[in-house]
Amino acid sequence: LNIIICNNFNLIIFKIKPSMTKKVLKFGGTSVGSIQRIIHASKIIKKEHDKGNKILVVVSAMAGTTNNLVAHSESISKKFNKRELDVLLTSGEQVTSALMAGALNQLGVKAKSWMNWQIPIITEGENTNARIIQISTENVNKYLDSGGIAVIPGFQGISKSGDITSIGRGGSDATAVAIAKIFQTDSCEIYTDVDGVYSSDPNKIPLAKKIDKISYEEMLELSSLGAKVMQSSAVQNAMMNNIPIHVKSTFTERKGTEINNNDIIDYSKAVTGVAYSKDDAKITLLGVEDKPGVAADIFEPLSNNQINVDMVIQNISTDGKKTDVTFTIKRQDSKNAISLIKANKKIKYENIYMNDKVSKISIVGAGMVATPGVTYKMFRSLSEEKINLLAISTSEIKISVIIDEKSTISAVKKLHKTFNLD
Ligand code: ASP
Ligand code: MG
Repeated sequence: LNIIICNNFNLIIFKIKPSMTKKVLKFGGTSVGSIQRIIHASKIIKKEHDKGNKILVVVSAMAGTTNNLVAHSESISKKFNKRELDVLLTSGEQVTSALMAGALNQLGVKAKSWMNWQIPIITEGENTNARIIQISTENVNKYLDSGGIAVIPGFQGISKSGDITSIGRGGSDATAVAIAKIFQTDSCEIYTDVDGVYSSDPNKIPLAKKIDKISYEEMLELSSLGAKVMQSSAVQNAMMNNIPIHVKSTFTERKGTEINNNDIIDYSKAVTGVAYSKDDAKITLLGVEDKPGVAADIFEPLSNNQINVDMVIQNISTDGKKTDVTFTIKRQDSKNAISLIKANKKIKYENIYMNDKVSKISIVGAGMVATPGVTYKMFRSLSEEKINLLAISTSEIKISVIIDEKSTISAVKKLHKTFNLD
């Protein structure tokens, strides 16, 4: 880069050498979904390397691969041995690591794949759901210093006792963030099949817009609410360690979305995005005895069985002596929850209802804190669409409502418009 400063007396020319930065480039399943796509991704990597950057590449398995492997295991047994399941599932990332390193070599670039146990990436916790706790940097750093590109499989780990582990579905995002943290890279770029984070689901809401900058908190709310751009726990880890993330498309050159600390976010908009999910169920207990401890008695067995309760509403029943308790949980847990409640000897109630044809609509925005009337505006605009609210929950930067599933898209469209996101 040449900078020329010219005034009446002097002509000064600086030559500034671009400083060498260390980057993580992570490619998701669709970005490495075919040999053509792997070759395409390898060219993006080469370009970054040619700029003088040190590059750590993290790859997912080719799109569909992990699902196929799960299906294979299930056709043997639905309770397939978890140790063996991890050996099986992590093989997808081994394949892409080798293909990517080979594609880079083919472009004349020095590159090498490293398996979980070769680095090693140490994890703790149970098979299929382990956590990365340590990554050795010395050998990989030496290789980066020598001008090589390290290609690292996402999703994989190895336990202290030497067993192959995996860190949960979608876990290659978590690997990318862990690598960024431990190697202290200057950036962490997540390449995917969309060109960033949108104000709503662009497949269903054609007027959804790409968001240039978003805070970790907003992103967490959006991803845990069903905007499937990045794994939530990876975003959480990035937030805790203040690692800036850049989500961008493998297939366009357009600017993506930066996920950052919110002090650099524009608060002029109250709402950043509208998310929805269709995997909730609502359970209502009518005529519950109203005395201290009942709520705890209702929810204790659910919690003991790893059933997460999302929203809770309690009203005084008509006679004033009893209460009605409504709560929402994941749809997949509904049968189990009902049987736990029916088996619960500690609680008395008159009736129990379950409705799993519901969806959850949420508006998310860090700007909500500073904008009065957002709640009212949301409820008013849904009522204009004649949409009934079955449950409501709010937090500092999010308002969620449960509605009838069939109104999902019309509710999202309406809110998207109401909050000037179209
Ligand atoms: N291949 C793994 C999965 O499909 C990890 C990932 O793609 O992030 O869940
Ligand atoms: Mg993924």
